[in-house]
Amino acid sequence: MPIPKGTLVSELSTAEDQRASSAPETRPAEVRLPAEPRLTDKFGRSITDLRVSVTDRCNYKCVYCRTGNEGPQYTELPIEDYLRMVRVFVSLGIEKVRLTGGEPLLRHGLVDMVRELAKMRTAYLPDGTPTDAGHPLDIALTTNGHLLESLATPLKEAGLSRVTVSMDAVDPETFAAITRVPRSFDRVLAGVRKAEEVGLGPVKVNCVLLHGFNDHEIEQFAEFSRSEGVIVRFIEFMPLEEDRSWRPETVVRMDELVARLNAYRPLVELPQHTASETARRFTFDDGVGEIGIIAPVSRPFCGHCSRVRLTSDGKIRTCLFSQSDHDLYGEMLRGGTDADLRAYVRKIVMRKEARHHIGEPGFEKPSRNMVHIGG
Ligand code: SAM
Repeated sequence: MPIPKGTLVSELSTAEDQRASSAPETRPAEVRLPAEPRLTDKFGRSITDLRVSVTDRCNYKCVYCRTGNEGPQYTELPIEDYLRMVRVFVSLGIEKVRLTGGEPLLRHGLVDMVRELAKMRTAYLPDGTPTDAGHPLDIALTTNGHLLESLATPLKEAGLSRVTVSMDAVDPETFAAITRVPRSFDRVLAGVRKAEEVGLGPVKVNCVLLHGFNDHEIEQFAEFSRSEGVIVRFIEFMPLEEDRSWRPETVVRMDELVARLNAYRPLVELPQHTASETARRFTFDDGVGEIGIIAPVSRPFCGHCSRVRLTSDGKIRTCLFSQSDHDLYGEMLRGGTDADLRAYVRKIVMRKEARHHIGEPGFEKPSRNMVHIGG
């Protein structure tokens, strides 16, 4: 008969179990079997993926993300405080940590943070059984790549697993028009190549397509994937921008994108890595290149969502489109123990939204924009 989790051996009730518990040479007097199941929301979704924003400062002013007039709006915390909160999440079942921002490479102490994250171990086996012999976390980083060339090696040495670089054009002029930073393309390309060289690949390149802005580059992106050996991932534009300019007609939807890519060269769909993977994956008929399509607007994947976010000021967000956030750092400042913080996280995760409502009548914009949440 399975022993309920959290049962003290001294509380075991069957005669057989009592005999087992009275064998002093093999068992200490009181062994507490792990009590807590892994972090799950009220819809039964396991929460395994934590995105941590370490700053909401950014050195780019991408036209679809920031107005260019607003600076940072939220506090940054000491790196040790992020680490303590991450440890709490990891003890509850988080396996992947993605560092983001703002622009995370602007954050002093980031390499040290990665080094500490690399020491952490997962707390559960894949079947949900607690374990003391977990494996290292999957540590990822999302960056605009501007500072990546010089940081790729130290980040890799500190234990970073992989990197995603945002590139919304592969033509230098369009790139500078989107980022509003002159000569930015060459720096980012150098960062992508360095990341590949030091073993942070295959690098994922994220591109948000906007009608009338960069949608003429779809085929060039396919060529970029094939020639550079990177995974290009197209992300549908979501209403998360600072200036509230989102319109449904600006979004380049998955169906249109697939038709364009197929006309360039026939696509072949690849199997998903996991059920919670957000991207539909494709290669071409000759097996060269990889394209991911992330379609939160036309094909929402909320039913498989495994993510929570921690903002740069230490708030939990249970969905990109949440109307409020939850002050985990405040709990810490009030003297919460790790057990208190765990209980708080569990309580908040239970409130995770079923899904977003992009494009539906009555859709309400979230309480923060992407750059201040952490994408
Ligand atoms: N500075 C880093 C970077 O550029 O990757 C990390 C933060 S940035 C906000 C994270 C990602 O969010 C980028 O890939 C960016 O293109 C994407 N993003 C920003 N606004 C978006 C929006 N409204 N819809 C979809 N993706 C968006």
